[in-house]
Amino acid sequence: MIHKYKLNGYNLCLDVHSGAVHVLDDITYDVLDYCDESMTAEAPETMLKDLSDRYERDELLEAYAALYELYEMGQLFSPDDYEQFADLMTKAPVKSMCINISHDCNLRCEYCFAAKGDFGQGRCLMSFDTAKKAIDFIIAHSGTRHNLEVDFFGGEPLMNFDVVKQTVEYARSIEQKYNKRFRFTITTNGLLLDDEKIDFINREMHNCVLSLDGRKEVNDKLRVTPNGKGCYDIIVPKYQKLVAQRGDKDYYIRGTFTTYSKDFTADVLHMKELGFEQLSIEPVVSDPKLPYSIKEADLPMVFREYERLAKTLIEMRQRGEYFNFFHFMIDLDQGPCAIKRLRGCGCGNEDGQPQ
Ligand code: SF4
Repeated sequence: MIHKYKLNGYNLCLDVHSGAVHVLDDITYDVLDYCDESMTAEAPETMLKDLSDRYERDELLEAYAALYELYEMGQLFSPDDYEQFADLMTKAPVKSMCINISHDCNLRCEYCFAAKGDFGQGRCLMSFDTAKKAIDFIIAHSGTRHNLEVDFFGGEPLMNFDVVKQTVEYARSIEQKYNKRFRFTITTNGLLLDDEKIDFINREMHNCVLSLDGRKEVNDKLRVTPNGKGCYDIIVPKYQKLVAQRGDKDYYIRGTFTTYSKDFTADVLHMKELGFEQLSIEPVVSDPKLPYSIKEADLPMVFREYERLAKTLIEMRQRGEYFNFFHFMIDLDQGPCAIKRLRGCGCGNEDGQPQ
């Protein structure tokens, strides 16, 4: 399978299964339309005929031969090597777990994926007994895997901070016995952060995800407290303190854009101005009938905005200014594992090989 497209003046072709990315000249890009998984060394007559009004026959043959060489090298229309392992996955060991430690939240974000924090099930917090059973479960089902990932999620996990602490302490206490190493992640809306929680997160959490939608007016339009006030002024100084004390441990600021903020490059740049360097912003996932949803008609602008953000990022890096946009992190040498590891995907794989 390939994906071919034009961007920023380049003709690009991504060979999906090998991960190879090719930059093509115009003629090769056009010839590619006549190639598929069953291509042979002989150039198709239809291609030679169809393109004869634009290119010389020798040029067409040369372009086709170059593509065929890529095909032979397994870098074009390459087979899906992972398909053969699909059945094995059902019996694969459990390597990561998301613990919904809090079915409650102290914000009432308009676009909340969790029905304003309680998932429509009533507000409640997980007991330590249940969290302990979750840790026992992942150990029992993790086979020979050494690194295990546990993500504290909600609602707002810090509303159940004591149980988070107890759970981490319990997991650490049995690591040696079972020859496991836990890597914890927490996602927070920031409201309850204080010095004690910042210390704990920076000590125990391998990664932390800090929710912020960018500019104050954008964030405060939808991320509001139960009394309807925006949370920007409360959370930003707390995030700045946490990140300043975090050293080289992973974190990222995670935002959501909606139909109201399709110019989200401005939000990413605002996060950067606040002093954050690890940034992410994603489209809201919601019923298209809701007023803040991204509609079909919004897509051309959203696509243009991603390109604008990419150009901005490149220009800033050329000037020596750095920030990292999470969704542009494609490691062309190591494949998706290297990316997911930063996200705390649970791969826990030190050498980038699938496990
Ligand atoms: S902080 Fe998260 S869980 Fe809480 S209301 Fe906002 S989106 Fe929902």
